[in-house]
Amino acid sequence: RTVYVNGQYCPETEAKVSIFDRGYLFADAIYEVTCVLGGKLVDFDGHMARLQRSLQELDMTMPMSIDELLAIHRKLVAANNVDEGLIYMQISRGSADRDFNFPPKGTPPVAVMFTQSRPVIESPLAKRGLKIISLPDIRWGRRDIKTVQLLYPSMAKNAAYQAGADDAWLVQDGYVTEASSANAYIVTTDGKIVTRKLSFDILHGITRAAVLRLAAESGYTLEERSFTIEEALAAKEAFITSATSFVTAVLEIDGTAIGEGVIGPVSKRLREIYIEQAVAAAK
Ligand code: PMP
Repeated sequence: RTVYVNGQYCPETEAKVSIFDRGYLFADAIYEVTCVLGGKLVDFDGHMARLQRSLQELDMTMPMSIDELLAIHRKLVAANNVDEGLIYMQISRGSADRDFNFPPKGTPPVAVMFTQSRPVIESPLAKRGLKIISLPDIRWGRRDIKTVQLLYPSMAKNAAYQAGADDAWLVQDGYVTEASSANAYIVTTDGKIVTRKLSFDILHGITRAAVLRLAAESGYTLEERSFTIEEALAAKEAFITSATSFVTAVLEIDGTAIGEGVIGPVSKRLREIYIEQAVAAAK
């Protein structure tokens, strides 16, 4: 694979960042994952808007213009012949002697990007549907900032795997926040789509925004509010959204089937609508 590191394209085996990179020492870095469909970028503008917001919240500077970031994304997709998959982009505060204080203003940020090819539309998990376990949400209080501080989400996913499930839904003060790396939804018995409202408690999913817009346009009733695991267990359907899972149905939570325990019509329809729109709007 050809990857991008700080101004240079190189083979992945030659890509290097400093051991003093603040991303490495302090998780002082933010990231974005953009889906690639048919060699084009899905909702690139949305991801760049969130990138800028994350950087601002952490008092970090954009390493380059959005046009330049777009050019690099496109160059990597072409260099690696990515038809379907993703691009990972990480921007750290830069490299400086280890110090809890931020490095001096003007320390250049470090930008890294690489591609991963994989089926996204015909993903095996999306075809099958997910088994979820619930776990306490013990992450920090600014989950709206997309930092690389992913140890707990990684532990949660690992715990889910060890329990024979696919992922975890995280619970804070009795209410579901989100999945380890996706937003969480239920469909009530009267057909309403429920998902937690935006706050510091969850990542403001780019897919979430698109799916809620498309669902409203398609006539679904939306409720942005918190829900409990008990309510999810009694729901007709449950699903998640993220840039690389689109809309993926949840079949089971903590060993209890949701609805009929199969991919429900709302999850199925939303996935179709989302893919149709994503393919059409990709750039
Ligand atoms: N929540 C969390 C914690 C995530 O890590 C992700 C994926 N990055 C999402 C939600 C979904 O966000 P998006 O739709 O922008 O991929």
